[in-house]
Amino acid sequence: MLPFARISIIGLGLIGSSIARAVRQYMPTARLTGHDADPAVRDTAKRLDLCDDVTDTPGAAVIDADLVILCVPVGAMGALAEAIAADLPADAVVSDVGSSKAGVAAALKAALPHATIIPAHPVAGTENSGPEAGFATLFQKRWCILTPADDADAAAVARVEAFWRALGANVETMAPDHHDLVLAVTSHLPHLIAYTIVGTASDLEAVTRSEVIKYSAGGFRDFTRIAASDPVMWRDVFIANKDAVLDMLQRFSEDLTALQRAIRWGDGDALHDLFSRTRAIRRSIIEEGQDDERPDFGRSHE
Ligand code: NAP
Repeated sequence: MLPFARISIIGLGLIGSSIARAVRQYMPTARLTGHDADPAVRDTAKRLDLCDDVTDTPGAAVIDADLVILCVPVGAMGALAEAIAADLPADAVVSDVGSSKAGVAAALKAALPHATIIPAHPVAGTENSGPEAGFATLFQKRWCILTPADDADAAAVARVEAFWRALGANVETMAPDHHDLVLAVTSHLPHLIAYTIVGTASDLEAVTRSEVIKYSAGGFRDFTRIAASDPVMWRDVFIANKDAVLDMLQRFSEDLTALQRAIRWGDGDALHDLFSRTRAIRRSIIEEGQDDERPDFGRSHE
């Protein structure tokens, strides 16, 4: 039995269109309705046949849904929830895929005080955006973190969990604040560092732009992939998860200062200890199937 039969996806970019494709593949009998604020995205969604129906307004997309998933930037979630409030069926479950959770949960609760809201964050993505960037297997073996409120309806949580498992994800439940702290260090801070490094390199006068590009395989290239992520999405994440990001940034700055000192004093043992610990973390990530161990991350060199 399907956990949901009439699924509505609002925001048909990378994540929304990937969910649509995955629902088509793994729950082919579910009815899919989609909406996006951008008429060009709606046209592309129709052309790609992502949904059974693509509506011109968010309200029309939810009118008979039993699951509504909001897949827009986190700063747009509250206004979108207000826009669907009048048309949302009383028994529908509302979820979202936002990369930060506490602020989004508060915005959804304020806009939809009587709705069943089960927030989620699929920890899967790429640096690409838009409906053409999505693919059905994006969530396979990736974690999806549910952050239901303490008093959330247990049956609704179980249905949302079953939904994500059907799409191939592993599911974990966490308090929203804890989610925001964990993701601040595993995702938000690395993005901030990548944005900084790529920005610094592009501002250097002593090194030409063509040298930066030519010799990028020395490590820089992997930062540029992260730093190519969607500017609107990431602007909203840093504003929404400000406290946890600033906490982690403070901690990071202290550790960076310690590393600076070790280099200044030629403390090879301290450097070697740290680099050995970090190498072990990389091995654990590969052992848990969360990344590719092929040389050069499986890049094609043809
Ligand atoms: P995306 O590819 O840029 O898609 C977002 C889509 O939502 C765009 O087409 C956008 O249209 C549309 N939109 C914006 N405001 C809207 C509104 N009020 N009503 C309807 N549509 C609206 O972004 P994404 O990467 O799929 O990210 C979507 C959400 O997933 C974000 O909350 C993000 O934090 C979360 N997430 C992303 C990743 C990732 O790696 N990318 C991973 C996990 C979770 P316009 O272009 O016209 O604004």
